[in-house]
Amino acid sequence: MLKFKCSSVGFDCNFVAKGKSEEEILTQCAAHATKDHNMKPEEITPELQDKIKKNIHKSLF
Ligand SMILES: [Zn+2]
Repeated sequence: MLKFKCSSVGFDCNFVAKGKSEEEILTQCAAHATKDHNMKPEEITPELQDKIKKNIHKSLF
């Protein structure tokens, strides 16, 4: 299981994405960012995705 905390890329937010792959996490983050942070899909840049990928951690839970 992989885990990503929204707060690790600088948002004051307690959202945590969980998934089996980086793609799953990125999909959840994109949905979360557009819904809860009022971001436009085009604002989710490759740079931001890269930042997210660097902050994805393996979790046992
Ligand atoms: Zn968030």
